[in-house]
Amino acid sequence: MKKITILLVGLLFLFSCSQDSLQKLSDKELVTQIFKEAQSSNKSYTDLKYLTDYFPKRLACYPQGIEAAKWTKEVMDNMNLDRVFLQEAQVVNWKRGDVENGFIKVNDKIIKVNICALGRGIATEKGGLEARVIEMNGLEELKNYSREQIEGKIVFFNKPMNPDNKNTFQEYGNAAGQRFTGPILAAEYGAVGTVIRSLTSAIDTFPHTGTTRKVVPQETVPSVCIATKHANLLSNMLKENPELKFHFETNCRNLPDTITYNAIGEITGSEFPDKFIVVGGHLDSWDNGPGAHDDGGGCMQSIEVLRIFQKIGYKPRHSIRAVMYMDEEISQGGGREYAEQARKNNEKHIFAIESDRGVTKPLGFTFDASPEVVQKIRAWSSLFEPYDIAVFKNGGGGVDIGPLKDIGTPLSGLLTDPEHYFDWHHSGNDTFDHIVREDMQNGAAAMAALIYLVDKYGLE
Ligand SMILES: [Zn+2]
Repeated sequence: MKKITILLVGLLFLFSCSQDSLQKLSDKELVTQIFKEAQSSNKSYTDLKYLTDYFPKRLACYPQGIEAAKWTKEVMDNMNLDRVFLQEAQVVNWKRGDVENGFIKVNDKIIKVNICALGRGIATEKGGLEARVIEMNGLEELKNYSREQIEGKIVFFNKPMNPDNKNTFQEYGNAAGQRFTGPILAAEYGAVGTVIRSLTSAIDTFPHTGTTRKVVPQETVPSVCIATKHANLLSNMLKENPELKFHFETNCRNLPDTITYNAIGEITGSEFPDKFIVVGGHLDSWDNGPGAHDDGGGCMQSIEVLRIFQKIGYKPRHSIRAVMYMDEEISQGGGREYAEQARKNNEKHIFAIESDRGVTKPLGFTFDASPEVVQKIRAWSSLFEPYDIAVFKNGGGGVDIGPLKDIGTPLSGLLTDPEHYFDWHHSGNDTFDHIVREDMQNGAAAMAALIYLVDKYGLE
């Protein structure tokens, strides 16, 4: 009995020591602890491997999406957090179907190419569609044509992303219009379909998909994206033979909205349990790949932030939530629902950060907040210099946390090396083997360190 008492007293002593010693640490020392802990654990990296192995192609409206949310909840249930729950969200229900094929036809010769349908797009008739092709370098060129020139043809939007521009997000933004509105605008000219160059500067054989704008079927046309290698081939062949035909068939469907779930884990705040800091990513991925960088990695990093705090014994003053949003890729239903519930439940959200730019080497953060808040946060940047993660600049937070802006939440995004992100983005090439463990660990540590500072000092 005496031995047990001594043991218990000893344990209590150790525990209070670790709490006390944590409080005595300088910010610099605590940030060091956070990075050390992140770098010593493979947990989030191996969890990401599991997620991508067992729940690939997890669009929010697919059963795989729901299974992924349940598994993620289970991962957090096993961490002894204060609260773990699934949050229902209504999302768009689009199904790819099982028919996707495309080929170039010159005289009697057929050359198969890699294509895939766009999310929210409509299908061809059974048997596919076949027509002559008019190539243009992006949406801007459409106005140079008359309706007669386009009617009955396939418009081939072939604006490339410039591989020399290292700001790949800017390049993506410059070219993405052809995917978002290309099908609708081409329909206005009487086109029968559109073929869209994949939004990547890599020259590869993967079609990179994405959503297109939703309209009633009469106002759009069946559309596919084509792998860049095959877009170049089609373009070259058109120069030789403008009369060639393109053929494609899809059987995707738009169904009534359905239900899916955000997965949420929380460490409840010791001083302000009703004030929240959110760290998140989106759990859904496109249905043509495992979604490692986009955005399984960001999700596992978000859970990792909670694990780091638990492991080093940091008890946050505010409640900290890891939120794995659903449906970023198609209709952003998960992000909207989370913000709506926060508003309904009067949950004050003092800060939200998202990791959804790929889990490559972290460089710093972007901020979407008032100048006063940004100024306060910038003062902490020197703490991130030893890790070379000290770029603090204005910019978007993230698609999923975006709706929290309406309830006054300052937003931030983890800024990562963008060079190769679009090589993988929305394609079968977004695989686990492109993940660098150290980058993922350091990104999680950087977010944990920033959250620690916001938690300690507040942003008011
Ligand atoms: Zn994403």
